[in-house]
Amino acid sequence: MRNKIVAGNWKMNLNYEEAIQLGTNLNAWIADNQPTAEVIIAPSFIYLQTLLEAVDEQYLKIASQDISAHAKGAYTGDVSAEQLDSIGLDFAIVGHSERRDYQGESDTIIAEKLKQAFKHQINPIFCVGEKLEEREAGDHFSVVKTQVLNALTYQDKEDLSRLIIAYEPVWAIGTGKTATPEQAQEIHAFIRKVLNDEFGVEVANNTSILYGGSVNAANADEIFSQPDIDGGLVGGASLKYDDFVQIIAACK
Ligand code: PEP
Repeated sequence: MRNKIVAGNWKMNLNYEEAIQLGTNLNAWIADNQPTAEVIIAPSFIYLQTLLEAVDEQYLKIASQDISAHAKGAYTGDVSAEQLDSIGLDFAIVGHSERRDYQGESDTIIAEKLKQAFKHQINPIFCVGEKLEEREAGDHFSVVKTQVLNALTYQDKEDLSRLIIAYEPVWAIGTGKTATPEQAQEIHAFIRKVLNDEFGVEVANNTSILYGGSVNAANADEIFSQPDIDGGLVGGASLKYDDFVQIIAACK
């Protein structure tokens, strides 16, 4: 059965000391409070190894914010799945909308990134979500279905047991606007149906589908109470210890 998961995407925030402090404080809170949800943080690449050593992975898991589409070679600035695996990393965010927008990542590139992650036993948090104009045109179901199928039909079916999906409507990321719990539930149920139709009931039932988009301490409870929402991918609020622990506690 699928896990409850709260993942914090730190993006390009926090200096070295702040990152270690927040990571170790979260680790201690989780050890003391034993929340239901599995907790993952995604710091910048430069802090991954130090954080892997500073926290206990039975309490707090570490993810990269991206992964290269290539196995190795002349790809300046990229970090490969093999390199991440070699430092003991088990999770990676793949296909975040900021990378789709600012780095021009296509579904094809994202499919290659997922392939690399699976090849090295890294569990991808694969992000999908529509833009505002697509929702206003009523195209959100078809946009999300296309993103899911373009990336996943290319994978080996057995690898999908490692898959985590984050539904993140682009219009809700960092904007303070959240999808209503009903809007989020509707599309999470739709994604699960797509998984069921294309990859079978086991994949559909076992894949955690996280909601992302301005989740905060005040709205987390209501969002996480929906049956097809298995937790959250949290940006801004994951940088604030007090808020993030409340969000983790809300995910039951
Ligand atoms: C994100 O970047 O994945 C995200 C959901 O950000 P925020 O929570 O700040 O909207």
